[in-house]
Parts: sequence; C-alpha cells; structure tokens
Amino acid sequence: MLRSRLLSLFVLGFSAWGSSSLAQTSPTPILGHPLGESFTRHHAVVDYVTHMADVMPHWELEEYGTTTEGRPLLGLIMSSPANMANLETLRANNMRRVNEGVDSGDPVVWVYLSYNVHGNEAVCTEAAMATIEALATTHAHLLDRAVVVMDPCVNPDGRDRYVHFQDQANGPRPNTDPQAWEHDEPWPGGRPNHYLFDMNRDLAWQTQRETQARTAFYRKWQPQVHVDFHEQGVNSPYYFAPAAEPYHKIITPWQRECQGHIGANNAKYFDQRGALYFTREVFDLFYPSYGDTWPMFQGAIGMTYEQGGSGRAGRAIETAIGDTLTLAYRIQNHTESGLSTIESASMHADRMLKEFSAFHRRNLEEPWGNHEGYVVPATNDPAKIHWLTSLLDANGIAYGRATASSKGTGLDYADLTSKKVSIREGDLIIDARQAQSSMLQVLMDPNPELSDSLTYDITTWALPYAYGLEAYAMTSAMPRTDAWSPAATSPSLDGEGPAYAYVLHYHTDLGTPVLADLLQAGVKARVVKRPIEVHGTTYPRGAVVITRRNNEALWPDMAARLANLTANVPGMTVARLESGMVTSGPDLGAYDVAPLDAPRVAVVMGDEVSSLSFGEVWFTFEEVWEYPMTAVRGLDRMDWDAYDVVVLPRGWYDVDKDQKDAISAWIREGGRLVALGAACNLGIESWGLSRYSDDDDKAERRDERDSHAKEDRYAPYAMSARNGIRSDIPGAVYEVALDETHPLAYGYGDRYWSIKTSGQRYAHLENGHNVGILSDDVDPVSGFAGVRANAQLRESLSFGVHDMGRGHVIYLADNVLFRAFWKDGHKFFANAIFFSSAM
Ligand SMILES: [Zn+2]
Repeated sequence: MLRSRLLSLFVLGFSAWGSSSLAQTSPTPILGHPLGESFTRHHAVVDYVTHMADVMPHWELEEYGTTTEGRPLLGLIMSSPANMANLETLRANNMRRVNEGVDSGDPVVWVYLSYNVHGNEAVCTEAAMATIEALATTHAHLLDRAVVVMDPCVNPDGRDRYVHFQDQANGPRPNTDPQAWEHDEPWPGGRPNHYLFDMNRDLAWQTQRETQARTAFYRKWQPQVHVDFHEQGVNSPYYFAPAAEPYHKIITPWQRECQGHIGANNAKYFDQRGALYFTREVFDLFYPSYGDTWPMFQGAIGMTYEQGGSGRAGRAIETAIGDTLTLAYRIQNHTESGLSTIESASMHADRMLKEFSAFHRRNLEEPWGNHEGYVVPATNDPAKIHWLTSLLDANGIAYGRATASSKGTGLDYADLTSKKVSIREGDLIIDARQAQSSMLQVLMDPNPELSDSLTYDITTWALPYAYGLEAYAMTSAMPRTDAWSPAATSPSLDGEGPAYAYVLHYHTDLGTPVLADLLQAGVKARVVKRPIEVHGTTYPRGAVVITRRNNEALWPDMAARLANLTANVPGMTVARLESGMVTSGPDLGAYDVAPLDAPRVAVVMGDEVSSLSFGEVWFTFEEVWEYPMTAVRGLDRMDWDAYDVVVLPRGWYDVDKDQKDAISAWIREGGRLVALGAACNLGIESWGLSRYSDDDDKAERRDERDSHAKEDRYAPYAMSARNGIRSDIPGAVYEVALDETHPLAYGYGDRYWSIKTSGQRYAHLENGHNVGILSDDVDPVSGFAGVRANAQLRESLSFGVHDMGRGHVIYLADNVLFRAFWKDGHKFFANAIFFSSAM
C-alpha cells in the first residue's frame, strides 16, 4: 500500500520536473525547497537520489532492501567514470583482500557512508543529499581514487515518523524557543525503526530486516572506511574520530593511527570555519553492534560522527549559551566531514589498502587472541546450534563438523576454567583461521577485556551465553572438519488406527510459533507438568499434548497440520501416541496434563513505557510468533476483562489506589499480569514483591552502600564520573538458579545465563514462587559490574510468580528479550504468555 503510494509520488515528481533539466544537480527543484529550509520526506529523498543516478549515468543505484513499512533502502555507488567502468573487477579484487589477504594493487579505496540510522537525527540524510551534489560537481575530483558507497537513509521509517511530526508542528518560521512543540517529539519518537529497535545496537545480531539487508549490502563491498552519521544533544559541539577508550583489544595500531589522520583532516576544515568540535571522548569502540565497531572488526576504519542537534533541534533552536543552531549549519558540518573523509581516505589510500589486506591475512594465518577456535558439542539443543550457525552466516563466519573424535584443551564458558575437552565426531567446529576471524573472536570472546570501564553499553555478549550453549574456547589445535549439515527433522506421524494424541517436544522459543499457530487455529492444547514416559521415551515438563478428545473437528487433518508446522523447526520433535496410558508420570487425561487457553493479550504502550521494551514485545508477537496482541495506550484505557494476559513493558507507571484495586480484582478472577524490568515496581507492597526481604536485609544493604559512599566522599571531583560506575551494571552476565519445575521455567535446566543491565534489586518472594534467583554469592560470570551495584544483587529475584486468587503476577525483572538477540531468554516470556493458564 505504502509502496505503491511511494511509486506514484515518484512518477508524479519526475514528470512534473521534466526531462529538459537532466543536468540539474541541485536538490531544490526536486524537493521543492532548498536544503536546510525544512526536512525532506523520504519519498523525495528517493526522487533526488534516483534523479542523480540518471544525471550521472556512470553511477549505480541499488535498492538493497525495503523497510517494514515498505520504503526502499538505497545504496548509491559513486566514483569516476574510469573506476565505474571497471567496477566489478575492482570489487572482485577488493574481495580478494578480504578472503585471501591478497592485495590486488588497485589504487582505489572504498569509502562507505551511512546516514540517519537514528531516524530523528534527521540532518544526516539532508547532508547526504548535499554530499551527493558536491560529489557530482565541486568535489568530483575526490572520486578519482575512491569508490563511495552511500546509504543516504538507513532508517527511512523512523526518519519519516520524525519528518511528519516536523511538518505537523512547524509554522512558516522556525521557533527557536526550546520549549516549542516543534522541539518536543511525541512518543515513541523517530529514533528507532518500525518495531522501535535501536538499529545502532543491532549490526552484529541482525534481528531487524533493515539491518539484515544493510549488512548483506555492506559485505558485498567491504570498504576500508565506514562512517555512521549521527546527531547528539543540542548543546554538544561536533564529534569525530579518534574515538574514546575503551577500544576493543582487537583494534589494530593502524586503525587507531588512521582514525587520527582522518580526524586531523576534519579538524583542518572545521578550524577554517571556527566550528567547535571534540574528539577522544564519550564514544568508545567496544560493543560490536555499532556502526563504527562492526566495520572495525572487519578491518575497516569505522567511525561515528555526531552533529549537535537530533530530534530536539528542529529547523533552528536556541542553545544553552544563547547561540542559534540552524539546520543549514548542521548540514554544512556533516557534509564537510563526509567530503573531508573521502579526501583523507584518498590521501592515505596506499597504506589503507595495504593494511586492510594485512588485517585479513593475519586472520587467515595468525588469528587474534588466545583461542585457536571454538567447539560446540552436537549434544546441545539443535535450536540453539541453529541460532549460532545463523548468526555466523550473517557475519560471514565459516564453521564445520568434526570428522572424528579427538581431545583438546579449552576454556569452558560455564565457569571460565581451562579443561580437557573431548571433541566428538559431529560437533560444531569454528576454526579461528579464517577471513572474518576478528569478528569471530569478538563475538565469542568469553570475557572481553575492558581497557576502561567507562563504556557506553553492555560489557559482554559472548554468543554461548546469549544462546545458552555448552561451548569451549580452545587453546589447542583445531580438528579437521567437513561441511556442516544440521540434523533433518521429518516427523513420521503414520500409524494404524486413530491416534489418541500427539506430543510436541521443544525447549526453546523456536517452538513457540508452532504452538501459537495451533492455538489460533482453535486447537485445544495441554502442557505436561510432570515428566511422562511412553515406550522408553521421556517427555519433560513443558511438552505439549494434543488429544483427539476436544479436537474432534480438526482431527482428520491434525497429523498433516503438525507434520507441516514442525518440519524444519530445529529442536522440535512430534510423536504419535495410541493410548492415554503412559509408562510413568501422569496419564494424558490427568490433571498434570493441564489445558492451555489461547490467551487474549494486551500490551501497554505510550508515554509511561520504554519504547525499546514495548518494541521488543511487539516484534516478538508480530514477527516471531505471529500471534495477535492488542497495543493499548496507557493503563487508564485498559478494559481489563477483555484480556487474559496483560503485559507491562519496562516503564514508569503511575497507578492510583482505585486502579490498583481494579487490577487486583481482575487478577483474582484469573488475569495474568506480566511485568518486565522496572514495571515490576508496581508489585511492590501490592502484589507480593519487595525490595528487601526484611528490616535486617534492608539495614545490611544500606550499610554496604554507606561504606562505599564513605570511600567516595573524599574522592577528587575529577573522579566523580568514574565513581559513578561503581553503582552501575552496564551489562553483565549472571548465572541465575532456576526452579525448573515451575511452568515459567519449562524448557530450561536448573541454570540460566541472564544479561543484567541494571542494579535494580528485588528480594526473593516471601509468598510466591522464586523461579529464578541469585544467591548469596554473586559475581558476574562474564562482563563488568560496579562493585556497589553487584553487592546489592545478593539474594535477589530475577524471575518470580505471585499467585492471587485464580490469577498470577509474573515478574520478569531481568530483560529476557534484550534487543531480541539474547535468544535463550525468550522462552521465559513465551511461558509467561502461553503457559500461565496452567500455573
Ligand atoms: Zn545516533
């Protein structure tokens, strides 16, 4: 729908503009306004970029993907006529640098410029258009030695959300008063994409369709330089490389040095105009899913450039010191830094290309870090192995299957100790000697070393933790492999006579879409609450039983439906049973094979809610499970009786006593309230939750805080930021002990690696089910936690259920949907939604 509208606008715009002015390179006639006067809607950006690809016939334009809302994602390839005539050969030679570490001798450097990944940092795309115009005219000479791959808008859905708001809020003349409507974007803002994900946290995980398309397009070109254009606060001067500490240790001396060369060239131009800027502060190079680090780990010089402005700045705004920051000035800065970067890359092209080849040659011959490679035993759940291989594929990392059994030595992710490892035929082997070894080492690093704990983001992300895998980082030589081929799952549901029931068995969220499909089709499903054994096969808690009884109308097609749904779902098995009597455990008609409902689900959104948390929930329902949910704006509007399950994403809810009483009444009648992160605060004092288990506990925690506060009291002022991090957990992995007999933990064992991103503390439930807890002895398994914050987490609750009447309050205090990539946590959320009728 949106797509066809874009196309028709495009056609109209083009014909109105006429073909006589094809040499026209200015955006003004196409946009209907000069750059800097107002913000440009994405369809008009598409018109201009498409027009320039016609004006410059040697340039190439590729639509590399589309957004969720149907807008095109564009890559414009710009270089001199001579380079463009030879583009495919140049590209193939550049890929040899990556794949073979061989330098072709081509003198052409590849520069990739990405704009507007955060949609409301809307100057970026305006500057992209100014940069295109300059490269076609005044700065064409910069393309003699450079191929520029430009993505003028990484996040068109977020950008248009912002631009439409601007169009609505703006009068004919800018109002520079910072309090004006035009500087106050409504929830959820234009920064994230359609599903409200921050795409500058998604590069390595690639959970979003825009990122999937973008990374595939990037890996086609493998540039030596990548710039991600952003905006920061209104009062900030411009930021460009060199970046701040911490740098990931894999970043090479040349990558550090070259950031300095590029930064110095930018400084030269900014100095000429007297523009303010800073370097080496705030923006570090550690977490691997940024637009600077992800390219860095592929050998490029990856950089973030930050203009002051962002969603607050509008067309013009008065800053704290009384200066007026205009859109035109913001465009000028971002255009200048982009052009300067291309110039600098050309000036340093020879060294850049040589170092880029050397980077990948080292990957092949002498990989970074302490590990020769990684072993993932084939005994892991096939679903979890599938998550891993999919992510390795998405990042261009090779892997194979051990052809024979052998022995080696490696670090066990479970406790970070070195031990003897028995490798068996069929295990997944990832050898560090490969072209993308640097990315591999970063993604698998058991405990990334921080050169400075003042970081912007989580401090550990090793994939075995995120996916709940048994795995080893090997220090001994890697075994021989052949091609990896996942075990095929093709259920055989044939049998003589009518089936009594089918049993579905799965441990991870990869099985949830199957259950969601069955429930929506009206299938009556039941969940196994005590393990059952039939003919020597054991079905654990959490297996799903579908009996002929209660499913009579759907029964003739049931076998075909199940075979179809479960084919090629890794980790999923389905079996046919001919009797309701089992060898051990509850018979299929027993209470402990409990019926499930098809829950009617509401999710709260709006001003009181973290858009990121709502987005994670929304994305899970719509795109992963394909199960309906109703987004309701604010708790006041909720018609509670219309829903069985209400999800409160992380938020800051303000609920009065009457509302709380109404919610309590709904829960007692069978409602299930699922509270995520800080939304758990609503349950304090009302629904069985407390911060401290008793007065002694409270006093003990306070003493701990006081003793640290005393240490800090006489610390120098200059150390205050540093002392602040002692109370912070930017993101570390903790081992949470689980009660695997509770439906909330079905599918898990007795341990779960949780990513904690806050020091928020809740006590163990006094009158409830402590499903996931930290004990007295807490230290992160991996990652950094401030000493004060860590101490507060002793004997705290991660996951719990408080029963009230026929309903439940389900507390998921740790984020189990973190950026949609901490996949091992997703089953907790699925259980909270689909198994809570059987709790
Ligand atoms: Zn940004």
